[in-house]
Amino acid sequence: MEIREEGRAGLVYTWQACVLCGAPFGLFGEDRVYTAWGEGGEPIGRVCPGCVGAGAEGLAERLRERARRLRERAGWLEGLVEEGVRFRAAG
Ligand SMILES: [Zn+2]
Repeated sequence: MEIREEGRAGLVYTWQACVLCGAPFGLFGEDRVYTAWGEGGEPIGRVCPGCVGAGAEGLAERLRERARRLRERAGWLEGLVEEGVRFRAAG
């Protein structure tokens, strides 16, 4: 994966979740826009300033932590499915 600077945010304010750590972040004006690219040249998505500033080792740790949280979340979701799903109409 490669993280590239794509220029400045400009006049359009953007608010989105970081594709890597999942944190919401906003960009405006002179803020730099960064995008992660896969080794195959495919765009992965926008990256927050925290991930950009973390450096290679810090970013690796952030990715491991997010992967851990996603596994926990996946287990919780699978548990909900195992409990069974019912729909009840109002009234
Ligand atoms: Zn991030």
